[in-house]
Amino acid sequence: MSKVTTNFSDKTIQYEQLLQNFKSLLKENNLKFTIQREVILETLYDSQEHLTPESLHHLIQEKYPDLNTGIATVYRTLSLLEESDIVTSLSFGAQGKKYELGAKEHHDHLICTECGNITEFVDEQIEERQHKIAQELEFKMQDHSMQIYGVCKKCQKEN
Ligand SMILES: [Zn+2]
Ligand SMILES: [Zn+2]
Repeated sequence: MSKVTTNFSDKTIQYEQLLQNFKSLLKENNLKFTIQREVILETLYDSQEHLTPESLHHLIQEKYPDLNTGIATVYRTLSLLEESDIVTSLSFGAQGKKYELGAKEHHDHLICTECGNITEFVDEQIEERQHKIAQELEFKMQDHSMQIYGVCKKCQKEN
C-alpha cells in the first residue's frame, strides 16, 4: 500500500531569505523595490491557498487598503516571480492560472474543473516510478509536475 500525503503547508525557505532573493531579482530586472511589490510577496508567502491574480489582489486590498496596489502590478510581479521559479502556477485553461510559492515541499495536484478546488498530494509510488522511468530512459530528471484534472467529490454530488 502506498501512502498518500495531503498536507503541504510547510515552506522550505524563511521569509527573510525569500525577500533577499526577491530584492536581487528586482535589481537584475532594473525594477524598484516597492512596498506594493513586497506586500505581493508577503501575501503569497503567508497564504496556504493557490491564488489567482484577482484573489491575491483582493487579499492585498483587504489587508492594506491604503497602498492602492494595482492589479497590473500584481500581474507583472507574478510573471517576474514565476520566471525565476519563486512562484509556480497551475493552469486552468481559459479560466487562467493559480499561483503558489515555489518553496514548498514537492507535491502534485488534483484540480476540479468545475469549482477550481485544488487538492495537493504526494504518492510515494508515483514519485518512485517517475525516478525509475527517467533512469531507465537515461534521462536526467530535475523536477516534475503532475496535474490531474477532473470533478471533485462535492461537484459530483451537485450534478
Ligand atoms: Zn469542484
Ligand atoms: Zn500546490
